[in-house]
Amino acid sequence: MGRAFVYVILGGGVASGYAALEFTKRGVSPGELCIISEETVAPYERPALSKGYLLPEAPARLPSFHTCVGANEERLTPKWYKEHGIELVLGTRVKSVDVRRKTLLTAAGETISYKILIIATGARALKLEEFGVSGSDAENVCYLRDLADANRVVAATQSCAGGNAVVIGGGYIGMECAASLVTNKINVTMVFPEAHCMARLFTPKIASYYEDYYQSKGVKFVKGTVLSSFDVDSNGKVTAVNLRDGSQLPADMVVVGIGIRPNTSLFEGQLTLEKGGIKVNGRMQTSNSSVYAVGDVAAFPVKLFGETRRLEHVDSARKSARHAVAAIMQPDKTDDFDYLPFFYSRVFTFSWQFYGDNVGEVVHFGDYSGNTIGAYWINKGHLVGSFLEGGTKDEYEAIARATKLKPAIEDVAELEEKGLAFAVAI
Ligand code: FAD
Ligand code: NDP
Repeated sequence: MGRAFVYVILGGGVASGYAALEFTKRGVSPGELCIISEETVAPYERPALSKGYLLPEAPARLPSFHTCVGANEERLTPKWYKEHGIELVLGTRVKSVDVRRKTLLTAAGETISYKILIIATGARALKLEEFGVSGSDAENVCYLRDLADANRVVAATQSCAGGNAVVIGGGYIGMECAASLVTNKINVTMVFPEAHCMARLFTPKIASYYEDYYQSKGVKFVKGTVLSSFDVDSNGKVTAVNLRDGSQLPADMVVVGIGIRPNTSLFEGQLTLEKGGIKVNGRMQTSNSSVYAVGDVAAFPVKLFGETRRLEHVDSARKSARHAVAAIMQPDKTDDFDYLPFFYSRVFTFSWQFYGDNVGEVVHFGDYSGNTIGAYWINKGHLVGSFLEGGTKDEYEAIARATKLKPAIEDVAELEEKGLAFAVAI
């Protein structure tokens, strides 16, 4: 026994919400579309979980941040899905998929069939156990991927007032959670293996701009080492973190952000994989023509770089989802996806945006003791990446436009001197 739909979206995260909105804009009929999600709530803007959700005063709570408010579009509440005849199957994990038969089997034992499947399964947080450290299940050790995780972080934060938090990982989760914990008046120590925070994107100069501010807020950095074990009390709570360099940090709570892995396992052996994700073409179509993949799980051709990339950011999830739906509903009118990679973060009163690729020679600009800083990346004589902190809307649009155009840079010193004015003038 089971149900049949024309379109099924597997996953109920950011990409799923934006795909649903696009389907309705392009005229899906009631009863044609189904979303299956392991989460118990309708799609929401995941970035809120490490920002507004963790604020001590007036924190963001659902239903305020359901998709698609993050792109200033309609807020899709459960009622909206009902009104549009979209079947929302929540709290339901899909345990196997047969792309040849076009069926999915849920953990509850239902078979759901489709004509077209969109895979939007996102990713899962990497666990410490995968690095040989045990203790992830202690009640004061937190990860942050979904609402249940965010509620754990909130509970741990509330019972930690004035206490010590250790943040493992110097990436996005680490930086954003450390800022939230400090705002909640908790003493924070960040531990990560690299020489500076956000090592995959920031230059040492950009990183030290932010690290100086974090330090002024009391955050301590322990760099170049990793966690080796936890000390745990008789209640199973972590009391201290032991590091590989032999030192020990007292801990009332621990937040771990050590990267993610795309949720591809249902499709291994059935679809072509690349870069850890599901390989798609410029129409977000996988190696099976009835199956599309979008968001964190998709490895897609980035025209600007001439290569396949998998991006783990919300703008890419939103736009790839819309593109897949356009390609499905209006194939003749839809060109290949032409995406300019865009990452951003907001911590304390900071706000930065990055466009393009961070490869090649770096030129910094702005006042690194002030409020507006930036950098350009020049590769093979062309500007390929731009970073800006503290810009205006027009200035962010300018660096995006300049990066997309990939202008030839003949004189790097001149670019450095012009700084932001170079992008604004394009
Ligand atoms: P997800 O939003 O992760 O959704 C995947 C969905 O699939 C989930 O609902 C999951 O339960 C479901 N699923 C998976 N497997 C199954 C299964 N077998 N059966 C049923 N359901 C399944 N990006 C930015 O650019 N800026 C930010 O500020 C930012 N902040 C972030 C903050 C946090 C705390 C996190 C975790 C991420 C943040 N990101 C940010 C990244 C951004 O949220 C992701 O890139 C985006 O959510 C990816 O969307 P997605 O739909 O591909 O995956
Ligand atoms: P990131 O990949 O950003 O960072 C992981 C960090 O953990 C890196 O500094 C990494 O170092 C470090 N690390 C890896 N292994 C260990 C270890 N054993 N011990 C200590 N540190 C370790 O992942 P996050 O977990 O921070 O973020 C998860 C996902 O959420 C990402 O997809 C991210 O894009 C997304 N996100 C995005 C946000 C945004 O765009 N503003 C905000 C929040 C989340 P190394 O580089 O050496 O591996």
